[in-house]
Amino acid sequence: MRPFEYLRAGDADEAIAAVAGDPGGAFLAGGTTQVDLMREEVLRPTRLVDIGRLPLRGVAAGEDAVRIGALTTMADAAADPLLRERLPLVAEALLAGASAQLRNMATIGGNLLQGSRCRYYRDRVFACNRREPGSGCGAIAGHHRMHAVLGTSERCIATHGSDLAVALVALDAVVQLRGPAGPRRIALSDLYLRPGDTPQAETVLAHGELITEVEVPLPPAGTRSHYLKVRDRASYEFALASAAVALAVDDQRITYARVALGGLATVPWRSTAAEQVLRGAPPGPPTFRACAEAALAGAAPRRDNAFKVELGKRTLVRALETVAGAA
Ligand code: SF4
Repeated sequence: MRPFEYLRAGDADEAIAAVAGDPGGAFLAGGTTQVDLMREEVLRPTRLVDIGRLPLRGVAAGEDAVRIGALTTMADAAADPLLRERLPLVAEALLAGASAQLRNMATIGGNLLQGSRCRYYRDRVFACNRREPGSGCGAIAGHHRMHAVLGTSERCIATHGSDLAVALVALDAVVQLRGPAGPRRIALSDLYLRPGDTPQAETVLAHGELITEVEVPLPPAGTRSHYLKVRDRASYEFALASAAVALAVDDQRITYARVALGGLATVPWRSTAAEQVLRGAPPGPPTFRACAEAALAGAAPRRDNAFKVELGKRTLVRALETVAGAA
């Protein structure tokens, strides 16, 4: 690991100024991913600003939304009674992510910004356009069974690793940001960038900009939801495919539908095309299969991950059937 300066921030303004004032500056929260990447010299910050003592923890519910402080740990959020009652989809996704030990340390903000999980990115022996722009992509030439089939480019095919982000994107979550230019709010779905020609740019965050809070609108009363994650082993593993779905059904017609996919795309993948198929249709196998076909219509599989297209469809259908059975 390379030497770096360590600072502990007393408040958000101090933290933002300290990071913004050093081109190699970075925030440190739970550190569960960041420290690993520093050990591997994938990340080489010159200054780490510890934000762990900032008052950005806790879950609060209003009439229309639930707000989650960015430094709330995954474990605390998943165990919060308000969140479990009002947003069970989010609690399910949190518990599907990482291991119990990691959830005790990892924060909500850090989970959303965990970066690429591509193993070629994490091993400096291999070329990686995300780590070193213009160097090539080890995954495209190598093994890419775990990689994305949606939102890819010829420069990068890495999947986004956050289960939480998939559930939050499905529910139209908004992130509150604070940075050198002041505060702003953006839809979580607008935070992430597809790789395109510049895979090194993963989000729209400015240098020194911090996520302070996530706001999740409450779905309509009577909505049922489910997060289904399919993976190679039952815990501590990233998704091969996952689906976050929320449905409300009235008089045998779907009146509210939200669909997002994980493990299949370069960003948390909201599918409005799939939702359009569901809205107004009767719940059942024909509707759900048509929804899944729409969700994966733009898939571009490669040699090792073609199985993900059908797996993604079946994962989505099963999640919808689970919700419909409970509705
Ligand atoms: Fe790097 Fe993306 Fe290629 Fe992985 S898929 S090696 S992150 S450029």
